[in-house]
Amino acid sequence: MKKIIVAGAGHAGLTAAAMLACSGFDVTVIEKEERENLGHDWEDRFDFDILSEITGKSIDVFPENSWRYRGDCAFLSPAKRKRIEILYSDENRQKIMWRKPLINMLIDNAAEKGAKLLFGTEVFKPLIDKGRVAGVSTSGGDFCGDLVIDCAGVFSPVKTNLPDEFGIDKSVKRGDLFYGWRAYFNKTDSVMPQTPFEVYMYHEGEQGLSWCCTNENTVDILIGRIDKFGEDKIDEQLAIFRKDHPWIGTQIVHGGQYGIIPVRRPLTLMVANGYAAAGDSAFMTMPMNGMGIDLSLKAGIILADTLISCPESDFSAEYLWEYNKRFHKECGAFASKNEGLKNSILSLPSQGVDFLFENDVIQSSDLAGGGKDMNFGKLLGKFTRGMRNPKYFFAIVNGLIKGSSASSLYSRPPEKYDPGTISEWSGKIESKNVTIL
Ligand SMILES: Cc1cc2nc3c(=O)[nH]c(=O)nc-3n(C[C@H](O)[C@H](O)[C@H](O)COP(=O)(O)OP(=O)(O)OC[C@H]3O[C@@H](n4cnc5c(N)ncnc54)[C@H](O)[C@@H]3O)c2cc1C
Repeated sequence: MKKIIVAGAGHAGLTAAAMLACSGFDVTVIEKEERENLGHDWEDRFDFDILSEITGKSIDVFPENSWRYRGDCAFLSPAKRKRIEILYSDENRQKIMWRKPLINMLIDNAAEKGAKLLFGTEVFKPLIDKGRVAGVSTSGGDFCGDLVIDCAGVFSPVKTNLPDEFGIDKSVKRGDLFYGWRAYFNKTDSVMPQTPFEVYMYHEGEQGLSWCCTNENTVDILIGRIDKFGEDKIDEQLAIFRKDHPWIGTQIVHGGQYGIIPVRRPLTLMVANGYAAAGDSAFMTMPMNGMGIDLSLKAGIILADTLISCPESDFSAEYLWEYNKRFHKECGAFASKNEGLKNSILSLPSQGVDFLFENDVIQSSDLAGGGKDMNFGKLLGKFTRGMRNPKYFFAIVNGLIKGSSASSLYSRPPEKYDPGTISEWSGKIESKNVTIL
């Protein structure tokens, strides 16, 4: 029986583990945290249908009080002169779920399907033998396997310790990561704003965003930047929020932690002999809004599907390239397009972002979809307004053009695994990157 090791009990890893164990593979998930410490103490938005597809559980049997609908949303321009409201209908209202029950559903599903789960065991590095990944070294000893699925998050020690000859990009540029701090405070007043979820672009003129979401009994605050920040910044931002939202209490009832999200296009090459990366370890998020759960779940499904369709494979890079290709065609192309827009916005000074908001170059339809519906044709329709400041307008046009070119390259990956061809293809994609200053 083929042995598969999954490093990290994240969304991608648990999804792949369940499907593979169910199909007769010997699967062990190795997770550094104890089970009770897994999952952030906050709520996330993602596509609930994918979770239902994976677990076979419909939304009405999701754990009690684990999810709810989020209120209407308002995006504020950096100078706060323009407020774009998004009022959801009953059909398209955003659903959010606490992270712990979500992870617990995935863990239970993997265990029920026969995967072995090892908690409290830290993976240190891959074991390399004759040009392939042959297992992992961990705090519980060495584990050998035919394939290591790397789902150990953005700083995965499996990926970062792969030999350079494998050709997998380990670099991280400024703007590739989003540093966040999130906490739910108690509420000192029963006030409920018309649009309770307020997102502040370039809050206080800094590259990133913050939000303040007034819930029934709590206020959910996120402070996010593309550069690392510390306690001073949190205190400063909270003081600013409290001026406009005097009902934010001082007691943290959930969260109060930092988190890091990759916000760049996915790795072009994410497989090697005996190795496949999925989830944050392969940068699988939507760059504009950092949503990575859907893509991680999809990657887990695509990877497991690929392996199940050829169980006699030796898990060579040639074979695993099928997974790599399919992910890029179905998801990577879409995510990479979004990166061009994100980077071009982040390259502007905050006055540039104000200009885009105030001249309706960025509108509610663009913000509702995290920029995914924004395209060149749509932007041309805003040409006259945009040309009031050609510098800012063309920066966005450039981002969209480059994003579209990268996307088209992602949707046409090399047919066969060949390091030379893949490196050339990756280089072309890299040349479409918009550098953030
Ligand atoms: C503040 C914040 C808000 C977010 N909000 C959303 C949202 O609303 N919607 C959304 O879709 N996404 C959101 N994300 C992004 C989302 O959390 C990630 O994209 C997603 O969790 C990636 O899943 P994954 O499968 O890569 O696994 P991860 O969730 O990254 O999990 C990796 C697992 O590997 C384990 N691990 C790490 N190192 C080791 C090691 N050395 N040995 C063993 N185990 C290890 C970790 O403990 C963890 O359990 C948010 C992220 C943050 C930080």
